[in-house]
Amino acid sequence: MSFSFIPERIFRDVTMITPAVLRQLEVKLLILDVDNTIAPYKTLTLEKPVLEWAESLKKAGIRLYIVSNNKGERPEIFASLLGVPYIKRAGKPSPRGVRQALARTYTSPENAALAGDQIYTDTIAANLAGVHMFLVEPIKFTNFFLAVRYFFELPFRHEKRK
Ligand SMILES: [Mg+2]
Repeated sequence: MSFSFIPERIFRDVTMITPAVLRQLEVKLLILDVDNTIAPYKTLTLEKPVLEWAESLKKAGIRLYIVSNNKGERPEIFASLLGVPYIKRAGKPSPRGVRQALARTYTSPENAALAGDQIYTDTIAANLAGVHMFLVEPIKFTNFFLAVRYFFELPFRHEKRK
């Protein structure tokens, strides 16, 4: 449990986080960021590969939990599409939302991972909560600000937790 910008693993997209990867690390709870992790900003649907991926994890006994900073309806919409619980307004980089998900599922941090696209919110929150951090490449840059922030995240994106 520490303050760190460095993710443990990096994946091209969430569907690369397979049951085998999770089993190897004894991860039983996968906490999902919403925006740019499972769907681009503003969309209200999930792509078929993401739905099939989520289904394959559930079949493998992995629990999913959405923890999003989004204040709108999208966390709830995606949670119901996936059939999983959710926390919105999570306030990442605060570890509060991640800890709530752990508490509600009776999961210890070592058996949980967060999949998210950002260093300054997701990665810090995961590291503070002591869960595994899987950084994914953002699905899409919808504005200039996000592209600039991604640029400043690059030094951390090349490093992995030892
Ligand atoms: Mg995000």
